[in-house]
Amino acid sequence: MADLSQFTTWIRQASEAYDAAAEELTELDRLIGDADHGSNMRRGFAAVAQVASAEQFVGIEPFLKKVGMTLVSTVGGASGPLYGTFFLRLAGPLAGYEQVGAPEFGAALRAGVEGVVARGRAEADDKTMYDAWAPALTAFDEAAGSGADLHTALTAAAQAAAAGRDATEHLAARKGRASYLGERSRGHVDPGAASTVILLESAAQTLS
Ligand code: ADP
Ligand code: MG
Repeated sequence: MADLSQFTTWIRQASEAYDAAAEELTELDRLIGDADHGSNMRRGFAAVAQVASAEQFVGIEPFLKKVGMTLVSTVGGASGPLYGTFFLRLAGPLAGYEQVGAPEFGAALRAGVEGVVARGRAEADDKTMYDAWAPALTAFDEAAGSGADLHTALTAAAQAAAAGRDATEHLAARKGRASYLGERSRGHVDPGAASTVILLESAAQTLS
C-alpha cells in the first residue's frame, strides 16, 4: 500500500529521471516535432519536485491535484495540459485514501488515462502518448485483476508502456505536431510515449 510519502517520492524520482532523459526526449521531438519535449518535461517536473519538497499536504489527493495544476502551468506545449489533466484526474478516485493499493490505483489510472483522451482525443495508433498509456492500463488491470500488488501491477504496466512506445516507431502520426509530417513521421519513436514510460517506470520503482 502506497502512502503520501511514497507518492511524493514518485514525483521526485520522476523529476530526476526527466532531468537525465531531457536530451534524449528533446532529440526524439527534434526528429518529428519542435525539439522541446525534454526541456518541457524537465521544467515541469523540476517545479513539481520543488512543490513535493517544500509544501505539506493533508493527503494523496490534494498532492496529486497540485502536481496536475503545476504541470499545466509550467510544462507548456501539447504535453502540459495532457500530463496536467492526467494528474488532476488521477487524484479524483484517491480522495479520502491514506493508503493506496492496486485496486484503488487501477481506478485512478483509468480516470487519468480517460482524462488524456478527453483532452487530446487521441485514438490507438495515432502515434501519441496514448499508445503507451492504453497498453499500460490494460496490463495494470490484468495484473491487479489476478491479485497482483501495486508494485507488481505497475511493473507490468511500465513494461507494456515500453512495448507501446517502441511500436510508435512504425506509425505515422495523426495527432499533435508530428502529424504535420504525416508519412515522414514513420521511423521515429513518439517523444510523449517515451516520457510516459519514464513516469510509469518511476511509479513502479517508488510505489508499493
Ligand atoms: P508540443 O507538441 O506542443 O511541442 P511537446 O513536445 O511537449 O508539445 O509534446 C509532444 C507530445 O505530446 C507528442 O509526442 C505526443 O505524445 C503528445 N501529444 C500531442 N498531441 C496529443 C494528443 N492530441 N493526444 C495525446 N497526446 C498528444
Ligand atoms: Mg514539442
